[in-house]
Amino acid sequence: MVQRHRARRLHYDFRLEIDGVLVSWAVPKGPTLDPGVRRAAFHVEDHPLDYFDFEGVIPSDQYGGGDVIVWDAGTWAPPADKATDPGRAVADGELHLDIHGEKLRGRFVLVRTRTDASGKEEWLLLHKRDEDAVAGWDAEDHPRSVLSGRTNDEVKADPDRLWRSDEPASRASVPLKFAPAAAGELDALDALGAGGTWSIFGRDLAVTNLDKVLFDAREGEPPVTKRDLLRYAVQVAPTVLPYLAGRPMNLHRYPNGTRSRGFWQKALPDHAPDWVPRWENPDAGDGETRTYLVVGEPAALVWATNFGGIEWHAWTSRAEDPRHPTYALIDLDPGDTTGWPDLLDLARLHRAAFEHLGVRAVPKVTGRRGIQIWVPVAPGPTFDETRAWVENLSTAVGAVLPDLVSWKWKRSDRSGRARLDYTQNALNKTLVAPYSPRPAAGAPVSAPIDWAELDDPELRPDGFTIRTLPDRLAARGDLFADVLGSDQALPPLV
Ligand code: MN
Repeated sequence: MVQRHRARRLHYDFRLEIDGVLVSWAVPKGPTLDPGVRRAAFHVEDHPLDYFDFEGVIPSDQYGGGDVIVWDAGTWAPPADKATDPGRAVADGELHLDIHGEKLRGRFVLVRTRTDASGKEEWLLLHKRDEDAVAGWDAEDHPRSVLSGRTNDEVKADPDRLWRSDEPASRASVPLKFAPAAAGELDALDALGAGGTWSIFGRDLAVTNLDKVLFDAREGEPPVTKRDLLRYAVQVAPTVLPYLAGRPMNLHRYPNGTRSRGFWQKALPDHAPDWVPRWENPDAGDGETRTYLVVGEPAALVWATNFGGIEWHAWTSRAEDPRHPTYALIDLDPGDTTGWPDLLDLARLHRAAFEHLGVRAVPKVTGRRGIQIWVPVAPGPTFDETRAWVENLSTAVGAVLPDLVSWKWKRSDRSGRARLDYTQNALNKTLVAPYSPRPAAGAPVSAPIDWAELDDPELRPDGFTIRTLPDRLAARGDLFADVLGSDQALPPLV
């Protein structure tokens, strides 16, 4: 099988099953049917057979980080007239093979040309002149997966699987989709009683106190238990994952329920299972948190929720580059006398400003009283720069409705007016993540909305809850996706 793998550099991984492993070469330009072309091929370490159908993403901080498609698959055999032991042929540096793939076919030869001082082997991969040879044939002209029909871009945008290179092969593959077929896992949660071991997204979680009430009831509804919350976390985890992956997490914990005061938990506790992904902050000073949770796979979000992490806050920057935010954040924070219609007016003014500027931005309700607007930013500006940009923008917008907006820091000085808060655009400061539950009766959710919903008279800032959001997600899709993978630069405002 051959994978097209976009890691630090694009290459094709040419893998042959020999003696129970995938003997592998990295071919930067890809195999070809053109007998006039020889491709450089670098012999790399054997891969486990479990990897043979892997298509998906590898976290950026891990070996081979990037995206992978199964570019070709089929069978191979040594030609009858060259029938040596294949393992021996590889060791001897010359392997002839007849390939019956969907794209690759005919006779190929792999020849070792050079072994450098570090033991790195350079080989050549070529196609013999036979009836399957095609002059001018280029792998890049055939970019789709033979497994899914998708391109690398399409798989990256909506991956089904994740490969944890830092785990043994038997545990490395992590499913990212909550398929209706996996509904059996929700039944398993219901069957657990007060607690037990729950297998979810390929991990075994010890879940406890499942019938404990964590949120007061809303009128006409039962109160929300920990089991209800975990069910929600599993349903949305694959959707939330791209907003959390690669980012340190600050959890707002309410282990005793949302009637008690919550507290911030930044440090990953020592008792976290070994598989839980984490990040060591190299810049942590004395007394500062060093080890953070990073939700690199869906089960990690379910683990954090079970741990009492009711509110999910991921950093605005990525662990690999903490000083450069990937979002600019606008927080429309109502005052005591700010009515919901007033807040909608402020949000609509921001909408008009973004339309005017040609800037892509996505709103969400907070699940409490406010609205936030997230603006995707290509890494480059510092936090000082994004904060200044948001301050300038909001100052201009706020000047249109000066009676509604206060620039006073202290709530008590604001005379009940709203604040356009730009100060969270700072290292290790966060706003609540999209789809996160909020600590209030009925378990409301910070729900992404589309801009037109600002004009929907039914819209409420806390109108979506963990009970209603899964159906909305199924019906509307992920309305926040525009903030991902952005190459947007913030335009100057003067
Ligand atoms: Mn590779």
